[in-house]
Amino acid sequence: MGLVFFLVPFTIAWSAGTTKVDAVDDTSSYIESVEKSAWQQPSIDTSNGSIDEINQQEVEIPAHKILGILDASAHAEQSSYIQDHQKIGYINKDTSSNSGDLILVNKWTSLPENFTPNGLVRVDDKSNEIKLECTYSGLTIKKEVRSAVINMFKAARDSNVSSIIISSTYRSYDFQNTLFKKKVKSLIKEFGKQAAYEQASEIVAPPGTSEHQTGLAIDITTPELLKTADPLVTAFGNTIQGKWIYENSWKYGFIIRYQPDKKDITGIVYEPWHLRYVGTPHAEIMYKNNWCLEEYHRQLKNSKHMTFNGEDKSYDIFYTSLPFSQQVFDEVYEDQIGYRISGDGKDGYIITVEKNKDSK
Ligand SMILES: [Zn+2]
Repeated sequence: MGLVFFLVPFTIAWSAGTTKVDAVDDTSSYIESVEKSAWQQPSIDTSNGSIDEINQQEVEIPAHKILGILDASAHAEQSSYIQDHQKIGYINKDTSSNSGDLILVNKWTSLPENFTPNGLVRVDDKSNEIKLECTYSGLTIKKEVRSAVINMFKAARDSNVSSIIISSTYRSYDFQNTLFKKKVKSLIKEFGKQAAYEQASEIVAPPGTSEHQTGLAIDITTPELLKTADPLVTAFGNTIQGKWIYENSWKYGFIIRYQPDKKDITGIVYEPWHLRYVGTPHAEIMYKNNWCLEEYHRQLKNSKHMTFNGEDKSYDIFYTSLPFSQQVFDEVYEDQIGYRISGDGKDGYIITVEKNKDSK
């Protein structure tokens, strides 16, 4: 039974997950002919002392604790087994691998055309604790991201860093499609079709591959840059606002998603203005280890389990890709505070267990 429930939504998501651009103008016929397989995803080398690096950052990977996730269907008739264990979370048929704060979206891992995030709210809501300046009214974002932005901008203001302007948040597949085609068109005369497509895709994500479609990404700028032709430029990284964001955004669950030294892994050039919400403690782990999201996913997939000691809390982070409709996560924690489940955007799940600092 469980398997049937699972396969139906999964198949739909899988078939819709390929990049597709509708034929509308003269560039489209070429774009259509570019097969997704033409993009070679670079391999990520995590063999180079990465475990030592984790330990230096107070992240431990105890091998004996890897099995914290069980396939519930194998125990379905042994309800006593499940009752004997403290259940803290289910991954059920409604939990999509495309839901959650940690989903990976890039050139090689795309969102379906019909994907719209849940829980979008207006960025510039009047009830906000502080006023969020936006270049357009009516921008929307996921609710938890707006809360995190408010906390971050309050802290910035307390450090005398103000005037941060939000210029882009959630973007639909269709809107991204328009932006991408516009960029290809602007480059085609100078570079020819193939180079124009490749260059455009490093600057503007092809539809389905933009983090803005997740509702978890924001672009920010300053009033000074806003007066220029392109307010989203690498110069933002050298402004007072850009420097503060670089040093502090991880505290509020954000990462600078596209770093200059990670271009070969992310497929996108340096964008100091593009923040991606991943939540805590994940932003802190990535910041302190200098991992981009692709590298972090790889670490989690390889190790299956990490522990992380934050300032106030400690965390157990598990990765699972068991292809069943229901999985029981049953590690027993005496002093557990809560847990979150996020899809990885592909075929797996990341479970974050939050604990009080002194619990085991
Ligand atoms: Zn962006």
